[in-house]
Amino acid sequence: MRTVILARRRLRRRRISWNCCKKIALAVFFFSLCLCLSAEAQARWIRVGLMTAPSAPISGRSLSGRDGGGRRFSLPASFSAHARGSNVVIQGKSYASPVIVSSPHQIRCGKVSYEGELVLRARGGQVTVINRLDVEKYLRGVLGYEINPQWAMEVLKAQAVISRTYALAQMGRHEASGYDVCTTDHCQVYRGTNVLHASTDRAIAQTRGQVLTYRGDLAHTFFCSDSGGATADVGDVWGKRVPYLVVRKEPFPSGSPKARWEVSLSAGEIQNALAKKGKSVGALSQIAIERRDAAGRAAALRFTGSAGSSVLSSAAFRTLIGAKKVRSTFFEFSPDGPRTTDVPDPVQRREAPRTARKIAFDPTPLTTAEDAQLKALIEQKKFNVDERLDMILYPERRRNYLYKALGVETPAMERKREPLEQPAETAKSIPNPARTAVSASLAGGSVTLYGRGWGHGVGLSQWGAKAMADRGWSAENILEFYYPGTTIQKR
Ligand SMILES: [Zn+2]
Repeated sequence: MRTVILARRRLRRRRISWNCCKKIALAVFFFSLCLCLSAEAQARWIRVGLMTAPSAPISGRSLSGRDGGGRRFSLPASFSAHARGSNVVIQGKSYASPVIVSSPHQIRCGKVSYEGELVLRARGGQVTVINRLDVEKYLRGVLGYEINPQWAMEVLKAQAVISRTYALAQMGRHEASGYDVCTTDHCQVYRGTNVLHASTDRAIAQTRGQVLTYRGDLAHTFFCSDSGGATADVGDVWGKRVPYLVVRKEPFPSGSPKARWEVSLSAGEIQNALAKKGKSVGALSQIAIERRDAAGRAAALRFTGSAGSSVLSSAAFRTLIGAKKVRSTFFEFSPDGPRTTDVPDPVQRREAPRTARKIAFDPTPLTTAEDAQLKALIEQKKFNVDERLDMILYPERRRNYLYKALGVETPAMERKREPLEQPAETAKSIPNPARTAVSASLAGGSVTLYGRGWGHGVGLSQWGAKAMADRGWSAENILEFYYPGTTIQKR
C-alpha cells in the first residue's frame, strides 16, 4: 500500500514539473515574440533602386518568392527575371508584379550581394530591382564604400551619423520610380555586402539611430572628400543659404595625398562650356576671380572675350567643365596662390582679439571638482560652438572659461593680476578678400588652374575630419565643427 502511495506522489510531482515546464516554455515563446515585434517596430526600412533593365540576373541560396497576388513559390538558385506587361516572368512562368524574393541568406543581383529582400517590379517591358532592408543594414553597404575603413573610429562614427541622416532625409527621392534612393553618388554610393568591414560596422552599431538635427528637423549633411582647408558656404555652391553650412576654416592640414592639383584648360573648352550655359563671350581673352568667399575660395568668375564679359559661379563652372577635371573651386591661376594676406582665416579673424591676447592661462590640469563643474556648464549650453572648440584646441584655456562662466576671476589671474595686453592685430587691418581680383590671360590659348581639395566643399570634409580624429577629437566634436548649431538625436 505504502509503495502505491509513493508512486502516485512521484507521478503527481512529475505532472507538476511538466506543467511548470510548459508554462516557462510558453512565457519564453511570448517574450521572444514580443522582442521580435519590438525589433520589427524599431526597424526603419529603406528601398534602394539597384537596376532597371529588360532582364535582371538574380541568384542565391534557399530563394523563395511571393507575387503581387500573394502567391508563394520556391525559386531556383539562379535565374533571370523578365518583364511582360505588368507581370514578372521567371523561367517561363508569369507572376503578378511585384515579386518579392527572400532568403535567410544574402541575395545576389548581378555581381553584388545584398541583405534584406529584393523586390522585382515590371513596367513598360523593364524590370526594376529594389533592395528593401533596414536602414542600419543599408548603412553597412554605404560606409564600406564612402569612407576608408582603416581610419580612426571617431571619423567613421561621424560618417555613420551623417550618412544615416542623409539617407533618412532622402526617403522618397525616387518615389516616381518606386524606391527611396539610388546606388550612385546622386544619393549615396551603396555596394551591398560587397564592401563590409568590421570597423565601419562597429561605427554604425555604436551610433545606432543617431542623426543630426537642426531645430528638430533632419539636417542637410552634405560631405566631401577634402575641403582644401576651409569648407564652402552652401549658398555659394547651390544658391540657398543654410545657417550651419557655412565657411569653416579647418584647424589642421588634411594630410590628403591628393591635397593639391592642377589642370590646364583650353580657351575652346571654356568657350564651349560658357555657350552651353548661354554665357558666351566670343573669343575668350581673360578669366578672373570676380568674388571670393571668406576663406579665399573662388566663389564667382568673370570671363572676358571679343563679345563682352559674363560672370558665372565657380561651382557652375566646375560642373560645366567636369567635377573630376576641376576638382574643387579652391583654385588660383598661379602655383603660388594669392598673397597670404589676401586670404584671411574667417575663424581667426573673428577670434583674433581673443586669441592674440597674452592671457595668464593656468596650464595645470583642472581639479576633479573643476572638471565636473565645467562639464555641467557645457551640458547646460553655457558656451557657444567656438568657445567649446577653443577649449578642445587649447585645453589650458578651460579654467579661464570655467571661471568666466561662473562670473569670478580664475585663481591664476587673482595671483598674478597682470594687465591684459591689447590684441596685436585687429580685424580691421585684414584686407577684404572680396576686393582681391586675380586674373589670367588666355593669349596663349589655355589657362592652368592650381587648386586644393576635392569635392564641392560643403559640410564635413572627410580628410579634415580624419586629421581631427587623429588628434583626439570625438565624433561629436567633429560634427559640431562642420555643422555648427546642429544637435545629435536618436531617432
Ligand atoms: Zn539618387
